[in-house]
Amino acid sequence: LTQLFRPLDMLGMVYRTIRQGLIDMAEMFRLLDEPEEVSDAPGAPALVVQRPSIVFDNVVFGYEKDRGILHGLSFEVPAGRNYAIVGPSGAGKSTIARLLFRFYDPVSGRILIDGQDIRAVTQASLRKVIGIVPQDSVLFNETIGYNIAYGRDDADAATVEAAARGAALMGLIERLPKGFATEVGERGLKLSGGEKQRVAIARTLVKNPPILLLDEATSALDTRTEQDILATLHRVAENRTTISIAHRLSTIADADRILVMQDGRLAEQGSHADLLRADGLYAEMWSRQAAETEEISEAAE
Ligand code: ADP
Ligand code: MG
Repeated sequence: LTQLFRPLDMLGMVYRTIRQGLIDMAEMFRLLDEPEEVSDAPGAPALVVQRPSIVFDNVVFGYEKDRGILHGLSFEVPAGRNYAIVGPSGAGKSTIARLLFRFYDPVSGRILIDGQDIRAVTQASLRKVIGIVPQDSVLFNETIGYNIAYGRDDADAATVEAAARGAALMGLIERLPKGFATEVGERGLKLSGGEKQRVAIARTLVKNPPILLLDEATSALDTRTEQDILATLHRVAENRTTISIAHRLSTIADADRILVMQDGRLAEQGSHADLLRADGLYAEMWSRQAAETEEISEAAE
């Protein structure tokens, strides 16, 4: 693992890539020895999760001083529900995920999980309860088995295999002469974007967290694999609190509630049917994507 980080001038870049990619790797921060943007309050207790609700309470945030990204964002995801966040590129959707994982703290406002301010608890305990499938997945130059089990050293072979199956990776792994022991990454087997995404999904299945955060989790997959994975993710999301950030609206139309973001604010929210009836931004995005899909299938004929 240390070899990955040997060129020292790459540390900053790697760190930023990871943070932007939202990889759950407290361990990585330790290895990199980089100061984190946020730190634990002295004597902070662990987050205790019984009913994992998520609350954003008037959250204001910007990456730079003079440029606000979230302008007083408030919403609540009740425990066990599946909420979706949609909106144009740059609206602040991934920023919500980064704040929930506490890569940054809000300028003002609060974020609560099961009633506890995430700033008041240890980051390790926070990150343990959240499973993230990020937009761009980063792999270690390690075996595929290591990458799937990452963060759960106690995971047995059966758990890792079940996760690989759930993430539609077994077909690939069975074709490899060394199976789970195959090295991947820079010096090993190069995986496609979709395959890396499936490794991230498998990793989340192994982690088995009460909160699931999917940031365009299936965007790198072809339509058929996407259908397979979506079915898996639906099963995984049952009985968990899930936030699915999505570009393709057809993948989240059945969410309990859809939050529509625009320019760092909630433009509208409701069920798919509610939002179509409201005939606002969501309805416009929906009909635009429907038209694009039609064009693609016509072009294919
Ligand atoms: P979305 O996921 O909705 O496409 P993001 O939450 O990633 O949008 O980004 C919201 C805004 O914040 C964008 O304008 C983006 O350029 C900006 N942004 C994202 N990450 C950073 C960063 N690390 N530093 C500065 N600005 C950033
Ligand atoms: Mg994003």
